[in-house]
Amino acid sequence: MLHDAIIIGGSYAGMAAALQLARARRHVLVIDAGQRRNRFAAHSHGFLTQDGEPPGAIAERARAQLLAYPSVAWREGKAVAAAQPVPGRFAVALEDGALHEARRLVLATGVTDLLPELPGLAERWGRSVFLCPYCDGYELAQGPLGVLASSPSWFHQAMLIPEWGPTTLFLQDQAADEAQRAALAARGVRIEPRRVLAVTGARAAMQLEDGESIALAGLFLQPRIAFASPVAESLGCAMEEGPMGRYLRTDPRRATSIPGVFAAGDVARGAGSVSLAVGDGAMAGAALHQSLVFGLG
Ligand code: FAD
Ligand code: MG
Repeated sequence: MLHDAIIIGGSYAGMAAALQLARARRHVLVIDAGQRRNRFAAHSHGFLTQDGEPPGAIAERARAQLLAYPSVAWREGKAVAAAQPVPGRFAVALEDGALHEARRLVLATGVTDLLPELPGLAERWGRSVFLCPYCDGYELAQGPLGVLASSPSWFHQAMLIPEWGPTTLFLQDQAADEAQRAALAARGVRIEPRRVLAVTGARAAMQLEDGESIALAGLFLQPRIAFASPVAESLGCAMEEGPMGRYLRTDPRRATSIPGVFAAGDVARGAGSVSLAVGDGAMAGAALHQSLVFGLG
């Protein structure tokens, strides 16, 4: 069957796009690999009416409401490539060999966090090691915090985190110039010159090269990001380069550089959140629907 739209990625952004299309009685296929970026976190914060809820529960409730619409189909699986054999007709190939076709596409595939290689870090990701202070800073109750420099955005993060508690910056391989050191000192940030070899403990105890340890309530870092899916590349969508990694270029209606292909959520942002993913998805869904009515112009 030729769907009106295939949505690749069935998390917050993809489901928000699907919901607009379902409510316009359009035929939508959502393809989802089930690997939400926040699956490591026990609680999600900052999304209206759902503050503090488990991120999986928010997604499950959204999915149940979406699947109540009869024109929505859901397929678990991984899209590996997409092509446009003729204008306004897209073919999406799945890992298991299945092929699905639609008149439009939404890419809502999110990103993958590339954590620095430091023993103890990955196990604590989303529990006591975090990305976003707006998501997780409040609960740390103004305790001692750390910033681990791990992407070019370390300076921005180290300047920001003191809003949530006294902050130590672990520079590791990064270098701070004089102006940066002065700005950080003015914010009360202490720079730790010793290398961190591991993170241990119930929260985040930073084990230093000389055997000393610094106990933190929480550690923040901005990892490099990678596309969670190769589909945008297979279509040739234009990209932007951000400090954490690449993301898809979109216009205010969330159209990519390829007519008929829309993108929403983290895959099309330098930095994202559940609220922003839902907003992007709603915009993409409505814009996609109108492109079915008025054409791709
Ligand atoms: P995602 O939620 O990442 O979903 C992408 C979906 O696409 C996944 O289901 C994935 O499996 C699927 N997918 C990818 N590739 C394919 C493919 N090829 N084929 C099929 N499916 C595919 N934000 C908040 O607002 N509040 C918080 O408290 C918060 N806490 C966070 C905690 C942690 C530890 C992290 C890492 C992030 C947190 N975030 C939080 C950010 C939030 O997780 C993201 O902004 C949000 O998940 C983006 O939604 P999305 O729909 O764009 O992508
Ligand atoms: Mg996305």
